[in-house]
Amino acid sequence: MRALVWDGTGLHVDSTIDVRPPGPGEVAVDIAMAGLCHSDISPMEGRIPQPTPAVLGHEAVGAVTAAGPGTDVPVGQRVVLTVLRRCGECRHCREGRPTLCPASGQIVDSPFSRGGDIVHQFVKLGAFAERIVVAQEQVIPIPSEISDPVAAMLGCATVTAFGAVEDRARLRAGETVLVTGAGGIGLNAVLAARAAGADRIVVVDRNPAKEQIARTCGATDFIVPSDPAQIVPAVQALVPGGVDAAFECAGHTGLLEASVKALAWGGRAVILGLPPTGASIDLVVRELFHDKSLLGCRLGSVDPHRKLPELAERVLRGELDLTPLVSAVVPLEDAEQLVDDLRNGRIDRGFLRFRSTS
Ligand SMILES: [Zn+2]
Ligand SMILES: [Zn+2]
Repeated sequence: MRALVWDGTGLHVDSTIDVRPPGPGEVAVDIAMAGLCHSDISPMEGRIPQPTPAVLGHEAVGAVTAAGPGTDVPVGQRVVLTVLRRCGECRHCREGRPTLCPASGQIVDSPFSRGGDIVHQFVKLGAFAERIVVAQEQVIPIPSEISDPVAAMLGCATVTAFGAVEDRARLRAGETVLVTGAGGIGLNAVLAARAAGADRIVVVDRNPAKEQIARTCGATDFIVPSDPAQIVPAVQALVPGGVDAAFECAGHTGLLEASVKALAWGGRAVILGLPPTGASIDLVVRELFHDKSLLGCRLGSVDPHRKLPELAERVLRGELDLTPLVSAVVPLEDAEQLVDDLRNGRIDRGFLRFRSTS
């Protein structure tokens, strides 16, 4: 089958990838569409370690085509994938907080190979492939009325950003917000802040071309800093006293430092972007004294099996429109161009089409 493979130096479509059949507790999913997230290009930029060769991709929708023993997902079921592989039995899983499950951090055997040699998978998925095999906890049913790109995006960018805003920062109506990085997750955070009734939503991105889409999603102000040091004074000028919640979505340490400094008393700064391995920040601890918090956030700190169906319902009810973020849908052969477009800020969310499910 075909898959998009990163070999450590280049990205190419490989049509000689094999995927094993599902074992106990696993299902095979034929991918219809997969979104390209900034995290997918992090291994290419050396920001996070990734053994190679590897199939990238972790935000996708498809249909279950085979189910191993001990599974209860029907063949034919349309599903969204999630990176979160849980044990289902530990205290955290039982309490509905599977992002804390110790088993979710364990390395699993890749289902992919080439000529008998292992081909690794990115973050327990590797969704840029015509077929994937995953644990059944990694598939979440999704209504057929939701389009492929929106369904795919719900699985990573949307569930992460809405979880961060609604469940981690617990944003309340009338509060003020700072979002740094207007990529797929940042723009979803803006949508979530607007949905929560935020009074002011300040967006920071070094690319001025992002202003229009940020405002479409709900940004009230847009700052293009040439240096992170300009951010705090600019935010203070717009929101005297600072913001109630800040969401750092670029994985940039300078932006994270600015996010903490820009907080009002009682403010929450949430780390959504993936910082480079080993990165650290300068933090004046006294800055947190007035009930401020700096919060890590993995996959929105939510149970995707609860949050994702909720978000899908909101899309179906017309309360949530994610379509402005869908900037490009291209066949797998055009993946390199799509990656280039993402890196150079020409698209918001781009998608690779494998086949049509609807
Ligand atoms: Zn992602
Ligand atoms: Zn667990």
